[in-house]
Amino acid sequence: MSTAGFNSQNGTGTGQTYTNGPSQNPVALQQPSGVGYSVNHQPAYNQMQAKVLAPPGPALYPSGPYQPVPPGPQVGSYPPAPAQPLLPRPQIGVLPSHTPPQSASPGPGPWPAQATPPAQATPPPPAVTSTGYYTGPPAWQYAAPRGPAPNHVNPAAAAPPLMSHSSTQPPGPGAPPTSIHGYTQLGDVAGNGPQAPNSYNHVDNRMAGAAPPGPPGRHLGHYPSLPPGYQNTSAPPPSSLHPALQAATQPYTQGPLPYQQQPGGPGPSPGPAPAQLSPSMAAMSLQSSTPEALRVVNLLQERNLLPPAPVPAPTPCLTQDLQKLNCSPEVFRCTLTSIPQTQSVLNKAKLPLGLLLHPFKDLSQLPVVTSSTIVRCRSCRTYINPFVSFLDQRRWKCNLCYRVNDVPEEFMYNPVSRSYGEPHKRPEVQNATIEFIAPSEYMLRPPQPAVYLFVLDVSHNAVETGYLSVFCQSLLDNINALPGDSRTKVGFITFDSTIHFYNLQEGLSQPQMLIVSDIEDIFLPTPDSLLVNLNECKELVQDLLKSLPNLFEKTMETQSALGSALQAAFKLLSPTGGRMSVFQTQLPNLGVGALQSREDPNQRASAKDVQHLSPATDFYKKLALDCSGQQVAVDLFLLSAQYCDLATLGCISRYSAGSVYYYPSYHHQHNPAQVERFQRDLKRYLTRKIGFEAVMRIRCTKGLSIHTFHGNFFVRSTDLLSLPNVNPDAGFAVQMSIEENLDDMQVVSFQAALLYTSSKGERRIRVHTMCLPVVSSLSDVFAGADVQAITGLLACMAVDRSVTSSLSDARDAMTNAAIDSLSSYRQSALTIQQPGLLAPACLRLFPLYILALLKQKAFRTGTSTRLDERVFAMYQLKYQPLAFAMLMIHPALYRLDDLSDEGALNIGEQTIPQPRVLQLSVEKLSREGAFLLDAGLVMYLWIGRNCHQNFLSQVLGVSSYAAVPEKLYLLPELDTAESQRTRAFVSWLRDQRPFFPSLHIIRDESQLKPHFLQNMIEDRTESALSYYEFLLHLQQQISK
Ligand SMILES: [Zn+2]
Repeated sequence: MSTAGFNSQNGTGTGQTYTNGPSQNPVALQQPSGVGYSVNHQPAYNQMQAKVLAPPGPALYPSGPYQPVPPGPQVGSYPPAPAQPLLPRPQIGVLPSHTPPQSASPGPGPWPAQATPPAQATPPPPAVTSTGYYTGPPAWQYAAPRGPAPNHVNPAAAAPPLMSHSSTQPPGPGAPPTSIHGYTQLGDVAGNGPQAPNSYNHVDNRMAGAAPPGPPGRHLGHYPSLPPGYQNTSAPPPSSLHPALQAATQPYTQGPLPYQQQPGGPGPSPGPAPAQLSPSMAAMSLQSSTPEALRVVNLLQERNLLPPAPVPAPTPCLTQDLQKLNCSPEVFRCTLTSIPQTQSVLNKAKLPLGLLLHPFKDLSQLPVVTSSTIVRCRSCRTYINPFVSFLDQRRWKCNLCYRVNDVPEEFMYNPVSRSYGEPHKRPEVQNATIEFIAPSEYMLRPPQPAVYLFVLDVSHNAVETGYLSVFCQSLLDNINALPGDSRTKVGFITFDSTIHFYNLQEGLSQPQMLIVSDIEDIFLPTPDSLLVNLNECKELVQDLLKSLPNLFEKTMETQSALGSALQAAFKLLSPTGGRMSVFQTQLPNLGVGALQSREDPNQRASAKDVQHLSPATDFYKKLALDCSGQQVAVDLFLLSAQYCDLATLGCISRYSAGSVYYYPSYHHQHNPAQVERFQRDLKRYLTRKIGFEAVMRIRCTKGLSIHTFHGNFFVRSTDLLSLPNVNPDAGFAVQMSIEENLDDMQVVSFQAALLYTSSKGERRIRVHTMCLPVVSSLSDVFAGADVQAITGLLACMAVDRSVTSSLSDARDAMTNAAIDSLSSYRQSALTIQQPGLLAPACLRLFPLYILALLKQKAFRTGTSTRLDERVFAMYQLKYQPLAFAMLMIHPALYRLDDLSDEGALNIGEQTIPQPRVLQLSVEKLSREGAFLLDAGLVMYLWIGRNCHQNFLSQVLGVSSYAAVPEKLYLLPELDTAESQRTRAFVSWLRDQRPFFPSLHIIRDESQLKPHFLQNMIEDRTESALSYYEFLLHLQQQISK
C-alpha cells in the first residue's frame, strides 16, 4: 500500500538561515542591553500572567485557554498540586523530588486489566488490492473528519487526531491521492505498466523459494568475510550482558530459549517455537514490578528531564537470549518496543505504531555469506533469521507466517564451526543483520556497472557562486576513490540556456564539447561516447575537470534550462541505470520544467498557513518516475541565495530515491562555512558506499500490516520500495496497523531485505530482522514506548500532513498527539489519580519533543523562515536516519569552557571529553562561559561576554573577548590541552554523522545570535510558548 510516498511532500531544509536579515522575532529572552543572561532577567515560569499568552499563530493555541492563567494551578478541575509554586525556577535541584504515587509504586499490584478491550473490537480491514499506485489508506488517516478552519479551532476538540489507528478505514474516495496529479493511472510511467527490462520488481518474490538446485552436501559456499566478532554469538554465555541491560531484562527472563532447546542432543527433540511457547512469556509481563519506564512523572514538577548523555534507545522486554540476537536499534527501531495485542489496545494508547530504518548504514562488522542456497520461507519468502524456530534438525518454522519449512541439506553444515548437523548455529540464524551474496536467480540482467553522470549548472549565476571549481577539484581529488571497478563509467553534461555534452572517447587528444541548443526536443549528439569507461579515459576526464571552471568564466548567460538537461541526462543513463548528480544554483526559467517564484518574502514570518509546500508542476515527479523505472537515481545539490522552489525541484530526487543537499547563500568568498560544508559533503558523497538497482521489502509477522512509507523512493507494489540507488545515509520510516489480533503470540518479527548491486557488480541482499514482544495491557504498551522513534515518526507524518492539508493542521495534530497519549495514560493506565500533568517516565520527553517540533524550521510559524529552508527541513525530517533527525528536532547544548577528562571516552590515542547535555534554555547559559549548540547540520559556539580568559586564549587564541573575530568558522589548532579537548569533542561529534555540520563561533552581539537563540526551545518567544506554558496547555486540554 503505501501510497504515502505520493501524497506527501518532501520537505527539506535545515540549511542555516544566513540571509534572513535580522530576525523579526528575536527570541524571547532578550534582556536589557548590557545585561547578561543572568537568571533574574529571564521570563521566569510564573510569567504566565503576561499578556502575550495569546500565542503563536492564531491557530493553535486559542486564546481562550490561555487567558489569565493566574499563578497557581487552577487549571481545570485539578485540586491544587501540592505546593506547586509555579516553579521557583533557578533552584531546580531544590524542588522536592517527586515521589512516585502509590499507583505506580513497586507494589505487586497488577496493572488494571480492564485496559484490554474485547479482541473483536477491530474488524479486519478490507483486503487491499494493489492496482495503481494508490492502494493503501491515505498517508495519514484521521478518524475524525477534517476539522473546521484550522486557524481557530480548539485543538483538542476539532483538530484531527494525530493518527487514526483505524487501519480498517478503507482507502475510500474521501481520501483521494490529492497531490498526485493523475499518477494513479499512469501505469506506463514507471512501473506498474510494462516493466522496464531492468526493474527488479518481482525478483525478490520470484526468487529463492524454490530452492535452486544447489549442490547438496558439503559443497558449501564460503564465508568470505565473517568477522571473528560474529562467531562468538553462536554460543552466548548466558549473562554476558551489560549490567544495565541485565537489569532491564531481569524480570523477564523466563521466556523461551529458542536455541538451547537442543542441548547438543542430535535427535529431533522439538523445542517449542518462540511463538508457541505459551504462557511463560505472557507471565513475564510487567506485572511483577514497576519498571522504570512506568514510573509516574509529574511534568509540571520535574524540570530536569534530560539525561546527561544522549537518550538511549529502550531495550525491548525480551528474554536475554532473544535480545542478544536482536537487531541493533541503530538499524531498526519500532515506536513501541512492546507490540499491542490488538488494534483496539493500540487505539487506546494513542501512540503511532511504526518502524524506523537505516538499512544501508555503514557497519563496522557485517557478516557476509556466500551460499548457493539462500534459505527462505516457501510461503512468505522471509529469509531465515535468528527468530525462527527449529522443530527438529530438518524442519524450521517461519516466524512471520508460521509455515513449517524443510532445512536444505546444505544448511546442515556450519562453516563457522565446521560442524555438521547444527543448522541453528549457522550465521544466518545467529545474526539479525547479515548480507548474502546472491546467486544468479536474483538477477534479471547482469549486474549493472557503477555509472556516474554529473549535470552541472554553468549559467552566470552558477559561475558567480564559485561552486564549479570546488566541485571539479573535489572530483579530481577523489576520482580514484569513486566506488566501482574496471567497468565504472562517467559522463558530464553542463547547461545554461543550452545543453553541452562532452565527448570523452578514448583516443581524443582533448575533451570535445558538443552544444545542443534545441532544448525543446533534446537529443544525444554522440550517444556512445558521452559515458565513458573511467579507467580507460581518466586523463580526458581529468583534463575536462581542470578546464571546466575556466570554460565558462566569462559567461553572461543567465537562463537555466534545467528540465531539458535532466531529460538529456535521463536519455544518457537509461540504457544502464546509474547515478545522476545535479548541481543547480537558480530557479530553472527556460524550456520544460521552467518555474516561477512562488515565495512572497513578506509572508515568511506569517502566522498564517504557509503556501506552496507542494510542487508547482509534476514535471519533476514524472521524470523521477521515468528515472526510477530505468534504475536511475537523481541527487540534487542546490546552491543558491535565491528561492529555487525546492518543493518542486526536490521531487526529482524524492521519487527516484536520490538525496537532496542544500547550501543556502552559497558563495565562494562570502560564505566560507558553506564552502567547507560543501567540500566535506562532496567528499563523503563521492566516496561513500553505493548500491545500484535496489529494492527493499519490509515484512512483518502475520496480523501486522504496513501501510505508509516515508523517505525517498518509489513504491512499486504493496510493500516493495524501488531504490535505483541506495546510500548509507538514507533513513526510512513506515507506519503499521494491527489487522488481526495477536492473541496467541508472544513475539512478533519484522524483516527488511535490501537487494542491491554493489559498485563491484555483485548482487547482494542485506537482511535485518527485529523481534519484539507482544503485550496485552495498555500499561505494558506504554512501558515499551520509544519516545524518540515516536517523535521521528510523528515528524514524518506531520510533513505529509503539512502538504496534503495545511501546516496549522499538522501543528495541531502534533499537539494532539501529546494530549491524546497523556490523556489516555491518565485515564486508562493509572489506577490512582493524582493531580499534575502525568507521564510515564519513558514518555517524559514527549511534550518537550513535540514543542521542539513546533519550533523546528519545518513547522514553526511566526518566525521568518524562507520557504526553501522550510521545505528542506521537512525533507530532512523524512529522509534522515532517526539519530540525525533527532538532533535537528532537539539540538544538544554543551558547555565547553570547562571541559575535563572526567568520564571522557578514549578512542585510539584520543581522549574525548563528554560534557553533559544541557536543557535548551538561556537559563543554562552564562556570560562567563562558552556553549556549543549542536543542531545537526549546523553548530554554534556562543561566547559569553565575560567568557573566561583562559578559554579565549587557550582555545580561541585571542587575547580578549573583543578580539574574537566577527566571522569565525574554525577552532584554531593550538598546542594547549584546552584546545585539544575542545577540538577533539567537536570533531568527534562531526565524525558521527554523514553530513558535515558547519561551525559558527559567535560573540554575544553576532548577527547569528538570533539563530542560536531560536534553538532555546524551552523558552518563550514572541510567537511561541515556553515549555512550561506548553505543559499547562496540555494539562488544560487533558483535564477537559
Ligand atoms: Zn513464512
